[in-house]
Amino acid sequence: MPVPRDLLAAVRTYLDVEIQSGRRRQPLDPAVVADFLAPPAPVAPAPVRAGSGGRAVPAAGSGGARPPAGRSGAGPADPAPQADPAQVAAAAPDVAAVAEAVRSCRLCALAATRTKSVPGVGNADSPLVMFIGEAPGRDEDLRGEPFVGRAGQLLDKMIAAMGFARSEVFIANVLKCRPPDNRTPTPDEMAHCLPFLRRQIQLVRPKTIVALGATAYRGLTGDPGASISKFRGLWLKFGDIPLLPTFHPAYLLRAPAAKRVVWEDLQKVLAFLGRTPPPVQKK
Ligand code: SF4
Repeated sequence: MPVPRDLLAAVRTYLDVEIQSGRRRQPLDPAVVADFLAPPAPVAPAPVRAGSGGRAVPAAGSGGARPPAGRSGAGPADPAPQADPAQVAAAAPDVAAVAEAVRSCRLCALAATRTKSVPGVGNADSPLVMFIGEAPGRDEDLRGEPFVGRAGQLLDKMIAAMGFARSEVFIANVLKCRPPDNRTPTPDEMAHCLPFLRRQIQLVRPKTIVALGATAYRGLTGDPGASISKFRGLWLKFGDIPLLPTFHPAYLLRAPAAKRVVWEDLQKVLAFLGRTPPPVQKK
């Protein structure tokens, strides 16, 4: 039975964390292995989106077919390969203009399958931290806002633990449109979309950047084969902005034991900024 590549990558990252924590043996529970290898549960039929002419929107992981060209509100389906992404992004004079360019962008094929593109949200006036993730998932695609699903709720907790409100930081993704079935972005999609992120960073001017996960790290550093386990927690630079990679919240949902090292990473960011985390509230 084929095993999804992202699942194998998650297992590898989890084992890397265990090794870094000094663990040398990992007892295997046969029931856990059987559960891991079991076929995925059937996905409930996707709801019909109001205003879509009765066409069902495929749910995440459903393997649904791509919608036909020119669906309602999405414009023509063909990307515009003749346009230079860097020129399009550079023409945006401010963060709002970048968002507008992203919303109308058709530079790659993901324009044909997205519901909404997801430019980014938050404090665009030189925030202390800018968080950068991989790409929108199902919830983000529906709402047009990054990190609003389960991983987003965990990111909100990470931000709160650092003593910030979500509105005080800027949050964006390397890729602004959802890849079908949440697959990993292709190098071509990254190449087309990265100029928008670079322009956002240039305009937002964050004091630090936290790269969430391997795709964000690869997009920001240009290192295509890098392992996030190797570089997480190490200070790097994006231009002259300090950049610290750590694990993506979606990975932490699958491997909660890694929250400890992520919190260590976030404390490094706070120390760099000269801040201390707020005291833990007792319930
Ligand atoms: S993923 Fe990026 S480059 Fe592709 S259509 Fe969306 S905004 Fe444009």
